[in-house]
Amino acid sequence: MDIGKMYINGEWILAKEQGTREIINPANGEVIKVVTEATEKDVEEAVMSARRAFDSGLWSQLKPEVRATFLLKIAEEIEKSKEELAQLETINNGKPLGEALSDVETAADAFRYYAGLTRTAFGETFDSSLDSMVVKQAVGVCALIVPWNFPLQMAAWKLAPCLAAGNVAVFKPAETTPLTAIKLFEIFEKVQLPKGVCNLVLGSGQAIGDLMTSHRGVNKISFTGGTETGKKVMTNALQTMKKVTLELGGKSPIVVFPDTDLEKTAEYIMFASFLGAGQICSAGSRLIVHESISAELTSILIKHTKKIVVGNGLDNSVQMGPIASIQHMNKVLGMVEKAREDGAILLTGGHRITKAPLDKGSFIEPTIFMVEDNDIEIVQEEVFGPVLVIQTFREEEEAVQLANSTKYGLAGAVFTKDFSRAIRMSKNICSGTVWINKYHSVNNQLPWGGFNQSGFGRDLGKDAFNEYLETKVIQMNLSNDALGFYDSFI
Ligand code: NAD
Repeated sequence: MDIGKMYINGEWILAKEQGTREIINPANGEVIKVVTEATEKDVEEAVMSARRAFDSGLWSQLKPEVRATFLLKIAEEIEKSKEELAQLETINNGKPLGEALSDVETAADAFRYYAGLTRTAFGETFDSSLDSMVVKQAVGVCALIVPWNFPLQMAAWKLAPCLAAGNVAVFKPAETTPLTAIKLFEIFEKVQLPKGVCNLVLGSGQAIGDLMTSHRGVNKISFTGGTETGKKVMTNALQTMKKVTLELGGKSPIVVFPDTDLEKTAEYIMFASFLGAGQICSAGSRLIVHESISAELTSILIKHTKKIVVGNGLDNSVQMGPIASIQHMNKVLGMVEKAREDGAILLTGGHRITKAPLDKGSFIEPTIFMVEDNDIEIVQEEVFGPVLVIQTFREEEEAVQLANSTKYGLAGAVFTKDFSRAIRMSKNICSGTVWINKYHSVNNQLPWGGFNQSGFGRDLGKDAFNEYLETKVIQMNLSNDALGFYDSFI
């Protein structure tokens, strides 16, 4: 088996210390690839390669339309490799093929969207008497770090605006899901992205994350991952005052009022909670339902949740894949166990699936709890698995209070036919996104990010583009007059 390599300074290379990692298919436990595993020496080389590329101006000084052409070619090549990329994502992350295909399309669209924005890094000029202008320019070397739940899509969400704005990158996928990133870098090579502009390092966050986020040669960090890791990243970045974007965890509420169609709403709730086996930062993991409809909605949810087809994502009939690794599955099962100890009432699911052939993979039943105590771990902490907790409310203010009662603030949803209430609730829920009568819709044009401990800064939209740009004021002296400040010159 060929060892998967890193891409540094336009060359495919093995890690200097020859470490390797087995990449596992979570649907059956099989080794699908062995990849090289970086140490800090490799990160040093990648940052230096990026630094040289940025300082030479070979990318930042290209005309925006030329950079845009590269991004458009990348989008085209992603689309040409759509099936292969989706298959790789499914065997590496476990998500059903249909979800993987949608990720690939989103990734291609991100490169296309930011190709358009390359030409919009507008500065400002002022009244002619000021002889001044404000210009936008690339920030420099960006360390981009992503998790394992949307390996390709997250790569595109970071690399596309980074490159569009004229920056260069050192990119690190999650150590367990590097396969689509390797393929994406093959595409970069194919479209002849200049050497050193995009560098791929493969390795664990524990081993190389600190250096990536503290290296003096790095100007900006864009990180997506867990809140605790985000805090470490921020601490590292502090020493050299890097610009930081953090997209972190969530515990998103779904508030349901009695005036909704319960069957339709139930389907959205299941989609919110169980898409991606719940391994989505914005998963709707807390259902806050009016007490008058709680029993009926709960029984609809239980009935349909039991029918979710769980299995290998390559099988077209499958609606929910495995948990992305055995380690993570054990963490989720531990939180389920703790929830029971804490008094949460298990309504359905709650176990590993041990029936062959799923016993070889890391599969968990979609799980629903009813809870009364808002302070227990299963309500307050992100599970990042297919686990929904149900709470009830009487008054709208109580629903708002419950919705805003965790440390997170990534997303949320409200289901009601009352327009005024929908808008009022949207304003009152503290999160970066609020969906009304829908869930999980994301568009590359719309800024994505969180309030509170879900992070700060934004991926996507013009906001992300602007985060990869510095603002510079240039003031000019157009006269030949002496300054006249020191008497001795007069
Ligand atoms: P994680 O924080 O363990 O890892 C994320 C990435 O950070 C990986 O590439 C990992 O190798 C790296 N990393 C680990 N330790 C590091 C360190 N000390 N310094 C630098 N990098 C380090 O998260 P995960 O388990 O891979 O992903 C799940 C988390 O990601 C969840 O909390 C989820 O909510 C969050 N997430 C957030 C968003 C969002 O848009 N807000 C999107 C997807 C996932």
